[in-house]
Amino acid sequence: MPSSTSRNLAVLTSGGDAQGMNAAVRSVVRTALDHNLDVYAIYEGYAGMVAGGNYIRKMDWDSVGGILHRGGTMIGTARSEEFRTREGRQKAALNLVQHGIANLVVIGGDGSLTGANLFRQEWKEHLAELVAAGKISQELADQHPNLFITGLVGSIDNDMFGTDMTIGADSALHRITEAIDAIASTAASHQRTFVVKVMGRNCGYLALMGALATGADWVLIPESPPDVDNWEQVLCQRLKAGREAGRRDSIVVLAEGARDRNGNYIGSTYVAEVLEKFLGEEVRVTVLGHVQRGGAPSAFDRNLGTLLGHAAVETILNSTPESEPQLIGMRGNRITHSPLMECVQQTHEVARLIAEHQYEQAMTLRGSSFKEAFQTLRTMLRALPHPPSPGQKRLRLAVLHAGSPAPGMNNAVRAAVRIGLDRGHIMIGVRRGFGGMIEGDLSEMDWMSVNGWAITGGAELGTDRHVPSGSDLYGIARAIENHKLDGLLIIGGFAGYEAAYRLLKERPNFPAFNIPMVCLPASINNNLPGSELSVGADTALNNIVEAVDKIKDTAVALRRCFVVEVMGKRCGYLALMSGLATGAERVYLHEEGITLRDLMTDVENLNRGFSSGKRLGLMIRNEGANDVYTTDFICALLEEEGADLFDVRTSILGHLQEGGNPSPFDRIQATRLATRCIDYLIRQAENNSTDCAFIGLQGKEIKFHDLEDFPRMSDLANQRPKEQWWLQLRRIARVLSQPGPGHTLQPAQPPETS
Ligand code: ADP
Repeated sequence: MPSSTSRNLAVLTSGGDAQGMNAAVRSVVRTALDHNLDVYAIYEGYAGMVAGGNYIRKMDWDSVGGILHRGGTMIGTARSEEFRTREGRQKAALNLVQHGIANLVVIGGDGSLTGANLFRQEWKEHLAELVAAGKISQELADQHPNLFITGLVGSIDNDMFGTDMTIGADSALHRITEAIDAIASTAASHQRTFVVKVMGRNCGYLALMGALATGADWVLIPESPPDVDNWEQVLCQRLKAGREAGRRDSIVVLAEGARDRNGNYIGSTYVAEVLEKFLGEEVRVTVLGHVQRGGAPSAFDRNLGTLLGHAAVETILNSTPESEPQLIGMRGNRITHSPLMECVQQTHEVARLIAEHQYEQAMTLRGSSFKEAFQTLRTMLRALPHPPSPGQKRLRLAVLHAGSPAPGMNNAVRAAVRIGLDRGHIMIGVRRGFGGMIEGDLSEMDWMSVNGWAITGGAELGTDRHVPSGSDLYGIARAIENHKLDGLLIIGGFAGYEAAYRLLKERPNFPAFNIPMVCLPASINNNLPGSELSVGADTALNNIVEAVDKIKDTAVALRRCFVVEVMGKRCGYLALMSGLATGAERVYLHEEGITLRDLMTDVENLNRGFSSGKRLGLMIRNEGANDVYTTDFICALLEEEGADLFDVRTSILGHLQEGGNPSPFDRIQATRLATRCIDYLIRQAENNSTDCAFIGLQGKEIKFHDLEDFPRMSDLANQRPKEQWWLQLRRIARVLSQPGPGHTLQPAQPPETS
């Protein structure tokens, strides 16, 4: 029960629009309905709240149907000068209280959240004044003594404290990455230089991550201006050196708030002019502008909006008049609650530090992973590595893949090779996984051998799924000895982990295996222990979501149920997360199993839905969910039981899930993990340690686990980790996809899945 006496809750989107806002609105509305609240949407942000009337509309289950995949915000957003005035806010208070609304979820940037907080503080005064003016009764005022607010950050800039990611930032990064990939291909054809300007007035997140993801040659961000006054000269020389080293394109990424160390803004045209003069060639400028806000939200933004929206309602229901308003955010896959105004103040603090040229402190406030990404980028974009230090022992470190190809594998190799070379070591690429290693297919990789690998899918080095045994082990030992390897980085899936573990266990028989080894999780299945997200899973999820969006479009005019089969072997991550991102009403997972009774319930639900006006059904089945109740079986069952009410189609998505260019997240994640892995191998080898590990993201941290723990942390029979954090999201998926029993669909509603 809410501590607020009001059973009415409203949601609004305010400030700049961002992809994923619709998912948040849908989630707020449906979660509130699930708690039996009356829920309203306030159209056009604070402007609608001030105007009232038709701008405040009651929502039902279906009013937020069919919007998950849409960019922007279906309830509109606006800037409102009137809301900045006390009179404006009093009008807004009148409109809310007349609707009995005293619970508010605000989705916007720091401006919108500041406004919300001020409004909340003034609430009592507004109501007293409205009573005094005879506009509302004392009784009505007494029923709504407090305004409860919760804030979600919708902003493509990722510029807010209290959350790792703001709603919209990942989609904007998708747009930027797609654009720079496209520019890079034309730039490389003509050996051209491009300056690409991206959004971010006080925050270099999009520029930095966009550059890291695409392999751009230079980046200019507000938090860390070039550290020399003659930066123009340094930039020109660096690009020239890059060309001489063999790069065919040069791309400079510039955040709109970039400045020099004296605080002067750096414009894209200025950079282009400087480069033209020095390089003696035409330099093109691309200002990405509103493209970054556009397009369908990424899978991540849909799920982020959904999870945050759900938490916002639950937080409001648990707040008391004394509790501070909260900002709901996400840190390392976990929902977080932070005092709203503290987050706003910290956000303003970074802007202040930048304005006062205190860049070091501004970078510190951005957090350690931002700083680390900037450091890594500075290495990756060098024209050539630093030469080895005099007298340094040059280690020989090998990189190979094992398991199925996963998008992002190339980024991991690229980072490993460049970081290793820059630290003064010799990097060796193994072709075709352990199979290639046994055949001696190893060779040294230089700086330019990984040029252009930042954007490609698949695995340039090649891979195989074979877990070595028997005589294979001799071949591997021979390769390690012949090439005098000091360490091994295995980038791959379950087969890679099993192989590494086997080598570890065979050390008594094969002394050559006494070198440090580290496994980097790369598998679309996201089924590796010690790692909440493996490289490749985000790309696969986006591939699935895009495909399902298209499949749903084909059913617009028909009463049809789709059963979509997705990959994952016996790990349901892709099924559950794609179900959450597409609004599937049922997800079949191996972790839960399938019983005949479940299937009968599904049939009944579908029959009930379709007979009361439903036009589209969507069920997502993990490929390994059940050996007997196969996708064909479920399809046949639904077809038979649905009779004339609806027809059923199967869609087995297959290998398209593994293909395509890696998503920005996978590229960045691969780069971060590979950098850490190479440093791990160097540390072990230099300390004469033969420890072995597997790396992964856990919560907010990147951690190493002892390879000895691999069997303990894994469900070996089902090839997945024993602990899977995402299973806890099943409840939310269920709440949002199935209306409560009292709900009846209106036949006139537009087609919607659930
Ligand atoms: P964002 O929320 O994306 O930062 P703005 O700063 O433009 O975008 O804020 C959006 C709206 O929030 C403004 O048009 C105004 O109505 C309201 N707002 C912003 N700052 C305040 C404030 N200090 N006091 C009252 N309302 C504000």
